[in-house]
Amino acid sequence: MRDQVRAMPIHILDTLTGKKREFVPLEPGKVRFYACGPTVYDHAHVGHARSYVVWDVVIRHLRARGYEVKYVRNFTDVDDKIIRRASERGEDPIALADRFARAYDEDMDALGNLRPDVAPRVSDHIPQIVTLIEKLLAKGFAYAPGNGDVYYEVRKFPEYGRLSKRNVDDLMSGARVEPGEAKRDPLDFALWKGAKPGEPAWDSPWGKGRPGWHIECSAMTEEHLGATIDLHGGGKDLVFPHHTNEIAQSVAALGDGVHAEGFARTWMHHGFVEIDSEKMSKSLGNFFTIREVLARFDAEAMRVFLLNTHYRNPVNYSDVELGQAERRLVYLYETLEKVDRLAQGVTAAEGGGDDLVERSRAALDDDFNTAMVLGILADAFTAANALADRKGKKTPEDKAELARFARDARLVGRELGILQRGPAQALLSLRDRAAARRGLDQALVARRIAERAEARLAKDFARSDAIRAELLELGVALMDGPQGTSWKVE
Ligand SMILES: [Zn+2]
Repeated sequence: MRDQVRAMPIHILDTLTGKKREFVPLEPGKVRFYACGPTVYDHAHVGHARSYVVWDVVIRHLRARGYEVKYVRNFTDVDDKIIRRASERGEDPIALADRFARAYDEDMDALGNLRPDVAPRVSDHIPQIVTLIEKLLAKGFAYAPGNGDVYYEVRKFPEYGRLSKRNVDDLMSGARVEPGEAKRDPLDFALWKGAKPGEPAWDSPWGKGRPGWHIECSAMTEEHLGATIDLHGGGKDLVFPHHTNEIAQSVAALGDGVHAEGFARTWMHHGFVEIDSEKMSKSLGNFFTIREVLARFDAEAMRVFLLNTHYRNPVNYSDVELGQAERRLVYLYETLEKVDRLAQGVTAAEGGGDDLVERSRAALDDDFNTAMVLGILADAFTAANALADRKGKKTPEDKAELARFARDARLVGRELGILQRGPAQALLSLRDRAAARRGLDQALVARRIAERAEARLAKDFARSDAIRAELLELGVALMDGPQGTSWKVE
């Protein structure tokens, strides 16, 4: 297994160094992976879907390559936005966050994402957070001005800002001190916030209060993965200040206090989901929840749509794009259904030919190029269709080749989290969604198909053709086969 891992190194573009480098985990064969999780005060939107589908494929691929991965993704359940939303609704903030954390898990399950191995919550890690802040105070990287707050002193950390390629003076120009803050320097950030009335608060050496946003990830990575982790993921919007501050905290408290690479050995950041070239976000109000989208479109189609773009590039969301991804998925399952039928009971060919699985994995080895994998799959499906549709009887070699294609396409699909359903069942479910979006009356379609069968029996071909034309007008295409007539949405 170890030899396999060494044989095919994975290269990842690391945000900190700005270089695409061979990924070398601290301990051979093991990966400690941390992704910043959602702040749970509302339903997850398509931006979250992208984020966690990307990490899902990273995890799946590392595992397929033989790595033992521990995947930790937190829930931020203590936060200004949660407190505000809870007070608007007269609800307890932790209870509100718990409700949305559960809803979030349901959405991720619906998208087909593997659950993380640990999903820690801030409210369960207050002692670890307090201990970490005490370390920062003891080492002189933090100060407690006596008003109940504790701040990190940014100028004490020499490589502050390296992740975002900006120095402290550049960053300073955008920083300001809010009223009531006792910072020495506008760039300093809160590690602990003294309690305000009506907010959740915990005891600490600095009085009752709650953690700042950034410290939770440093505390939870240490608790569940150790002082140094192999891979840290997040959206590009987290580079500054969140990840910049995570590095400052973790390196100061647990590392040498100097070098930014002492925390995460590799940093991955994905691009945004955009609508009309603007980032989809709750604060901009231009977002769709995952629930809204999955009520109309297939979850697997959503994955195809999201993975068709390299993770670092922006994705432009639209119903048209999602509809196209769904039609593409229909084609993939139609092909699998046809190939399965032709290759039923046949042993897959071995050796020779084009290795679909290895080529796809090589594309993922190169900074997780999922778009390229979908392209490789598209070519393989075209070739499989050509072979399946070729006139004349299939030779045993043809059938073995088709069996190999069906097996390998599913192996590749597994790494993208697609093509794992039975084709017939998937096609039926995809047809139902397309029919619902068109507002088709499925009972009427069934009635017309029965009438047409009667007409054909009575050799009334004019009537039969008229029914076919009428249905086509509604977007319904009929297919006559040995088991009768089936239909699909055109
Ligand atoms: Zn984080």
